[in-house]
Amino acid sequence: MDATIKRRKTLQVAVGHVMVGSEHPVMVQSMTNTDTTDAVATAQQVFELAQVGSEVVRITVNSPEAAARVAEIRQRLDDMGCNVPLVGDFHFNGERLLKDYPDCARALGKYRINPGNVGKGAKGDEKFAYMIRAAAEYGKPVRIGVNWGSLDQALLARMLDMNSRAANPQPLEVVMREALITSALESADKAMELGLPANQILLSCKVSNVQDLITVYRDLGSRCAFPLHLGLTEAGMGSKGIVASSAALAVLLQEGIGDTIRISLTPQPGEARTKEVVVAQELLQTMGLRSFTPLVTACPGCGRTTSTFFQELADSIQTFLREQMPVWRLQYPGVEDMKVAVMGCVVNGPGESKLADIGISLPGTGEVPVAPVYVDGQKDVTLKGDNIAQDFRAIVENYVQTRYGEGGAKRREGVTRTIPIRQL
Ligand code: SF4
Repeated sequence: MDATIKRRKTLQVAVGHVMVGSEHPVMVQSMTNTDTTDAVATAQQVFELAQVGSEVVRITVNSPEAAARVAEIRQRLDDMGCNVPLVGDFHFNGERLLKDYPDCARALGKYRINPGNVGKGAKGDEKFAYMIRAAAEYGKPVRIGVNWGSLDQALLARMLDMNSRAANPQPLEVVMREALITSALESADKAMELGLPANQILLSCKVSNVQDLITVYRDLGSRCAFPLHLGLTEAGMGSKGIVASSAALAVLLQEGIGDTIRISLTPQPGEARTKEVVVAQELLQTMGLRSFTPLVTACPGCGRTTSTFFQELADSIQTFLREQMPVWRLQYPGVEDMKVAVMGCVVNGPGESKLADIGISLPGTGEVPVAPVYVDGQKDVTLKGDNIAQDFRAIVENYVQTRYGEGGAKRREGVTRTIPIRQL
C-alpha cells in the first residue's frame, strides 16, 4: 500500500513474535488501565485490546503484588488463545521487581524503562544496570522511554549549566528538547555497554505538545538507528486527543519516522479502552500505511437529507465490519482493503458508491424513497422499504464471502471498475 512514504532505516527488533523496524509494518500498541493486581480484569482487557488489533499491550508493573500476577496474566491470555506480547512498564522499583519476580521477568515480551524514573546518581546507575542485565539475561528487548514530565533532572541541570556558559546560549525549550534526546541516546549507549545488543533496544521521547514532538523525533531519528516508538503523551480526551495525536504522528509517519505507535487517549466516561487502538489503526490506514478493517466512506450530510437514517446506517455498517474482523481476518484475506460507501443523497451518492467496492446511495429529502446499491462499480440492486439497513448488511456479507472467501480470488482478479468522471 505504501507507495510514497520511505521509512527511516532502522535496526530490527523482535518483541515476542512481533518484528519491529523499518522492514516491518508500523506496529500498533496500547496500554491497559486496569489494576495489574487484578489478573482477571487485566487479562480480559489485554484480550479485548488484542482482539481489536493491538499487536503489543503494555501493562503497569508498579508493585510486588502487580509483578506477582504478571505470569498469571500471561497464562490466562495463553489459555484464551491470545499470544499478544506484554510489555512491563517499570518506574522507580523495576530492578527490585525483576529481581524478586523472575516469572514476571520471563512472562513479559519487553521491558519499558524510563531513565528519568530509575533513581539518582550511583544508586540510579546501579538500578538501571540491573534492569538492563535482566533484559539481556532473559533475552527481552527494552524500550528506553523518556518522557517530558519525568525528564532526568540531573541531566537537565547539567545541560542548562553548560548552556548558560555557552557563547550563544539556546532558549530553554531547545535545551529541554536536547535533554530529552540526550537522555534516550546516552541511556541506549549505557545499555549496550552493559551487554544489551543494539537490536534489543527501542527508543521513545514523548512530549505533550505537537510541534515539540515533531521537532524532537526528527532530531532523534537522524541521530540513531534504533526503532522509534511514537506517541503524544497525555494527548487528552475525545476529539482533542485524537486530533493532537494524529496531527503530530501523521507528520512524522509521512516522513518515514516511527516504527510503533500508541494513541494515548484519556477515555471518556463509559468509553471503551479499545478506542485508542481503533484510532491508531485508522490513522495508519487513512495514510495508506497499513490496512486493518474495511473503512466506510460516508458523506457528512446536509440540508438535502434531514433524517438521521444514513448516519445510523454508516455507523452500524462500520461497527459491523469492525466486529467481524477477528474472524474475517482469518477467513477472508484481503477483506481489510474493502471500501464501503454509505451516502446520503443522489448528489454524490452514486459516484462515491461506484468508486467503492460496495456502496449505497440513500434517498435524500424529496427524492424517490429507493436506495441503489453498487457492487464493483456497477449498479447491482435497488433497495426500498423498511429493511434497507438489514438488506444492505446482507449484501455486504455476501460480497465478502464471494469476493474474499475460498475461490474468491479469481473474482477479485477479474474486477474492473468503471470510474465515473462526474456523477450528478
Ligand atoms: S451526498 Fe447529498 S446528503 Fe451527503 S453531503 Fe452531499 S449533498 Fe448532502
